[in-house]
Amino acid sequence: VTDSLWCYRCDETYPRSAGARCDCGEPLWFDVDPTYDPARHADESGLGRYRDLLPVDELRGLTSAAGGTPLIRTDRLDDVAGCRIWVKDEGEHPTGSFKDRGSAVGVADVLARGRTAVGTVSHGNMAMSVAAHAAAAGLDCAVLVPADIPPERLAIIGQYDPEIIRVDGDYGRLYEVSIRIGERLDIDFLNSDVPLRVAGQKTTTLEVVDAFRPDAPDAIVMPVSSGGHASGAWKALRDLRACGALPSTPKLCFVQAAACDPVATAFRDGTETVSPVTGGETIAYSIANADPPSGARALAAARDTDGAVVSVDDDEIREARTRLARGAGLCVETASATTLAGARRLAAAGVLAPDDRVVLVATGSGFKESTATADAAAPSVPLAGLDATLAARFA
Ligand SMILES: *Cc1c(COP(=O)(O)O)cnc(C)c1O
Ligand SMILES: [Zn+2]
Repeated sequence: VTDSLWCYRCDETYPRSAGARCDCGEPLWFDVDPTYDPARHADESGLGRYRDLLPVDELRGLTSAAGGTPLIRTDRLDDVAGCRIWVKDEGEHPTGSFKDRGSAVGVADVLARGRTAVGTVSHGNMAMSVAAHAAAAGLDCAVLVPADIPPERLAIIGQYDPEIIRVDGDYGRLYEVSIRIGERLDIDFLNSDVPLRVAGQKTTTLEVVDAFRPDAPDAIVMPVSSGGHASGAWKALRDLRACGALPSTPKLCFVQAAACDPVATAFRDGTETVSPVTGGETIAYSIANADPPSGARALAAARDTDGAVVSVDDDEIREARTRLARGAGLCVETASATTLAGARRLAAAGVLAPDDRVVLVATGSGFKESTATADAAAPSVPLAGLDATLAARFA
């Protein structure tokens, strides 16, 4: 574990006190020691297995519960997608999303340094995750949400009893503003793509690669919003490559909702930077970031790995969500269903081949969403009529 930060774009190293950004404006990430040996802590559970690649050592309590999620071979989705599909089920985390990986590392670091308060800017999974980890560790917690947050999400965040503050105004600017205020008030803001969070979130991909050893999968598909998780995926591959522990490089393929797709637009246009868009409404609200702080880094990740960034519309997302439930028994968040729709597009375009082994990262659980509609066609029968009803359907 090293304590220095590094910029992927200008190859500059910074001390940890430098914060989250390089002078060039791009986000920094933690350097690692290139002597990592994947076998060394292989018998440990959760993120502890990757402690040699993380900026923290001590994971206990709730922080020890992150990671180690199932990787499920879902062969009934192969025909839907047009390639061989596995699903990495991140919904199995304590708060139902991969955000727990980043929160675990962030909170473990805050505890190791004897600090007492954390915060985040989020109206969804990250807010729940940071609030839960703060509660378990006995830390104060500030959660900044937009003024128009839906009450059901406020209730889920509120059960962990953080200090919730509704902020009226340009929510996009809060990312930088919160970090600046936090430095003054000693609140460590664990926002979407800060170095600690990205370090934790790279473990999704470390686990996927380990599960396929001695090979590696052909592609990993994940939804992209801020670009923090995507950056973590790229960092995982780079760390493993640097240590001589990457069998082959999976294509990193990212998916956005068509109504708000700045990274996919930049990929299509062949630009190196990501320009903000005027985001429209989408059912995949968890990934509707019109000005992603790690957008350019996600773009670089897709290009470096021979991957792609695509967008899918709400009808495709809805259908994919249904297919995941009916073809794989998985209840995934709407944002996560984009991965199946995206894989289908990529296979149709020839980016993914029919016998490619493709991992969809189901980033969050669908059980927190109330989008399911009751099946009105379900019959209602008296107990005495059950025999005949079942016989009519199954005999
Ligand atoms: C946060 C989130 C994403 C997007 O991750 P980024 O790191 O912001 O790109 C995707 N899916 C779900 C369910 C999320 O909570
Ligand atoms: Zn730089």
